[in-house]
Amino acid sequence: MLFARSFFWSHLKPSDICRHSPRFSSLFSSLSASSAASIEAERLLRDGPRNDWTRQQIRDIYDSPLLDLLFHGAQVHRHAHNFREVQQCTLLSIKTGGCSEDCSYCPQSSRYDTGVKAQKLMTKDVVLEAAKKAKEAGSTRFCMGAAWRDTIGRKTNFNQILDYVKEIREMGMEVCCTLGMIEKQQAIDLKKAGLTAYNHNLDTSREYYPNIITTRSYDERLKTLEFVRDAGINVCSGGIIGLGEAEEDRVGLLHTLATLPTHPESVPINALVAVKGTPLQDQKPVEIWEMIRMIATARITMPKAMVRLSAGRVKFSVPEQALCFLAGANSIFTGEKLLTTPNNDFDADQLMFKMLGLIPKAPSFTEDAEKAPEEESLQEAAS
Ligand code: SF4
Repeated sequence: MLFARSFFWSHLKPSDICRHSPRFSSLFSSLSASSAASIEAERLLRDGPRNDWTRQQIRDIYDSPLLDLLFHGAQVHRHAHNFREVQQCTLLSIKTGGCSEDCSYCPQSSRYDTGVKAQKLMTKDVVLEAAKKAKEAGSTRFCMGAAWRDTIGRKTNFNQILDYVKEIREMGMEVCCTLGMIEKQQAIDLKKAGLTAYNHNLDTSREYYPNIITTRSYDERLKTLEFVRDAGINVCSGGIIGLGEAEEDRVGLLHTLATLPTHPESVPINALVAVKGTPLQDQKPVEIWEMIRMIATARITMPKAMVRLSAGRVKFSVPEQALCFLAGANSIFTGEKLLTTPNNDFDADQLMFKMLGLIPKAPSFTEDAEKAPEEESLQEAAS
């Protein structure tokens, strides 16, 4: 904006410095006009969440001046959530490596030489012990990830996982799984076992997706999300930035999520952790400004969702993470690892909570567990 203003003044001709000059009024109004972030945030506070976004509307929010976007992300966040609460989740890889898929960012694909060894499904004792430790450390949600294309034809393993879900739920934690694509009946079985949420990321825009994954389609991913939603399980779906995509692809991802018939209850925003041996090993690191832009746009377009500051957090300093929380992020993953990549130190996270005045979010087990206050309160906030 500063640049825009100095450019504006330095390129004025004497004839323009007249209040009646058309050039003066059009340039001046473009600099002083409200940003799309401000207009949409106000509209949201007045009318409540919506899912009829056009792609251009989301693009305009995304392109708002960064500090304005950050401010309005914070404004929407404060009206839709308790801004001090941040959920701590722990993600455990219960079946690592040897995956048949070709996701270009993933060290667990058997197609890439990354040093990750294929392992069998973890036993019940090991998984429950990890869940117990996570709970003791303050996590309220335990997520289990398995490196599979899908769960079809894995009846024994799937039944084992149903048992893990039941046990962890009985420990008083929310339970989430990410097991690849699932079918309708499997979603129903997971719901019956007590699953809180199912994670299945769209990763990027529909257009850029074939550059990242060729072994399953965008529509197959959306089908899994539909089965999850129909079974009454909360949907957790987001993406990764830093894959070499354009900004338009980031907007495209958010547009797909924000126009689903019901917004996902949870939207993880990941920054690529480039792993040696994967096709994306040389990608340049994501900058904090890019994360803030994604988080604030996700917050404004899907106000009630838990926006998760996920992979890549380890690269960001506490002040940088503070900006992400301000922009609207309200969940993090704790624990040494995020599947196979490093994560933030537990003690450092506790210190950060203390320093920023954040408090852990308690688990919630109703159908609308992670939904924010009703429309009414959003409307009240507008008045
Ligand atoms: S992201 Fe999941 S599906 Fe893709 S290669 Fe990795 S483990 Fe397999």
